[in-house]
Amino acid sequence: MAIPVVTSIELSSLPKLASGKVRDLYNIDDKTLLFVTTDRISAYDVIMSNGVPLKGAILTQISAHWFRVLAERVPGLKTHFLTLTPPATLAPAEQDLVRGRSMQVRKLKVFPVEAIVRGYITGSAWKEYEAHGTVHGLPQPAGLRQCSPFPRPIYTPSTKAELGQHDENITPAQAAKIVGERYAARIEELALRVYEAGAAYARERCIIIADTKFEFGLDEETDEIVLIDEVLTPDSSRFWPADGYEVGRDQDSFDKQFLRNWLTENGLKGKEGVEMPAEIAEATAARYQDAFQRLTGRTIDEALVELA
Ligand code: ATP
Ligand code: MG
Repeated sequence: MAIPVVTSIELSSLPKLASGKVRDLYNIDDKTLLFVTTDRISAYDVIMSNGVPLKGAILTQISAHWFRVLAERVPGLKTHFLTLTPPATLAPAEQDLVRGRSMQVRKLKVFPVEAIVRGYITGSAWKEYEAHGTVHGLPQPAGLRQCSPFPRPIYTPSTKAELGQHDENITPAQAAKIVGERYAARIEELALRVYEAGAAYARERCIIIADTKFEFGLDEETDEIVLIDEVLTPDSSRFWPADGYEVGRDQDSFDKQFLRNWLTENGLKGKEGVEMPAEIAEATAARYQDAFQRLTGRTIDEALVELA
């Protein structure tokens, strides 16, 4: 199945509900959404003007893979995943446009926190720890080094900011106030269980998932907490190639390192509307494909053939 590089999609046969940095959400019916992932890529918080070939399909297929794997490995887990088949109500040409890069999901009430789990200390958590010995306000053991694993993965939620705003790190107690005491402990426990199952699976396939962000929704009919959004992708997580991992220094990002280096070397870090040269887009695409293949054991082309 040939998939064109698409940075923006306008479907005329379904109403659009929202558009984020990478994804567009369409309403199928009262209970169902179409989750469409474009090939847009952001680095240092800005979106490049051109896309990365197959990125939308890879992110979609990685999430779909996880929904299957996690359902087996995390007993009782409910997810929003329904099917990779585009809805029949979509015009045929538009079905072709979104096939491979989209999934139908259950529309749920979203809990307004980002359920972040960290297995390794890096990024903003490392900065906070160096300065105060804490991570999201939680005291941590002495002696951690940059990119060390935590003794056990920790739950470090943040607020879910409106578009254009920045998420704010909060303590689990503050998160409990936002989602309600009734759900807070279940969300924390689920986030940790899903991370642990996913990180163990990835580690066997030479990928370290250093940290990740989950989102959860509520099924109001059954009062069940449901795993939603994208799951354990290189966009929602820090993936490190296990082969190059070393404590005490920054790790290469699995997917965006080429792009970040190129932006920095050319003084383009943080600039809006930058166009990546073809070789940078291709090198980035190759990294996403590598992550996909390590995780799923097959190439993205093999996965897409089945959906054609
Ligand atoms: P960005 O990724 O650009 O920082 P974002 O995460 O808000 O912003 P996207 O990832 O592009 O935006 O879009 C996904 C949106 O869909 C998120 O706001 C997420 O909370 C919401 N969402 C995910 N799954 C569901 C679901 N099952 N029901 C309702 N909303 C959902
Ligand atoms: Mg998102």
